Amino acid sequence: MPVNTQQYQVIQDELLQNNVQLIAVSKTKPNEDIQALYDLGQRAFGENYVQELVDKEASLPKDIQWHFIGHLQSNKVKYIAPFVYLIHGVDSEKLLQEINKQAVKNNRVIDCLLQIHIATEETKFGFDGPDLHAFLLSGRVANFTHIRIRGLMGMASFSEDQYLLSNEFTLLKSYFDKASLAFPNGDFNILSMGMSSDYSLAISKGSNMVRIGSLLFGARNYTK
Ligand SMILES: *Cc1c(COP(=O)(O)O)cnc(C)c1O
Repeated sequence: MPVNTQQYQVIQDELLQNNVQLIAVSKTKPNEDIQALYDLGQRAFGENYVQELVDKEASLPKDIQWHFIGHLQSNKVKYIAPFVYLIHGVDSEKLLQEINKQAVKNNRVIDCLLQIHIATEETKFGFDGPDLHAFLLSGRVANFTHIRIRGLMGMASFSEDQYLLSNEFTLLKSYFDKASLAFPNGDFNILSMGMSSDYSLAISKGSNMVRIGSLLFGARNYTK
């Protein structure tokens, strides 16, 4: 299935009206699909797998902003540290330590979002809200000299229940507002929540960055 460029324009119009940034989630999709959206002006793309991201980065235009949105293992940080634009799924201090170490090696500051666990499913990664606040209050964030914490990321439950999703997004927004008090310099200003199926709801609850894949690129086929 080709890229849905018409849908792209519709979504972009909706997002622009709301000052929301679009991350086009291109995992499992070929370079031609990414290039097609790039040619329409899209620069921010999201990927979940380190090797796939490294390969794509090497062969696609250099001004693409690559967002890592998957679950990142510490031992793989080094492969994306030279170029990654924003890491969304940071869910432990151990991972922050490794990202900081690799950022120092690459002589750069890496922007990160802390992932918060809001869904009912056990399988979704992330800090629990109370742990996040304990961490921020501890002041240990200051140890990570080469990381800029830009905000929070979360994934709602895999459900059609709008009431449940709405509550989860509202909860994440409340964590975001509270956490932002720990960053008076204003760098903490990104709330990444919302995907193809729930992005409008997420925006209505305060999201300012959405990660949309299948609506733009079609359904993913993992068996290929
Ligand atoms: C795959 C993925 C998306 C995009 O999902 P769609 O439903 O295809 O829009 C968004 N966020 C994360 C973390 C993902 O892994």
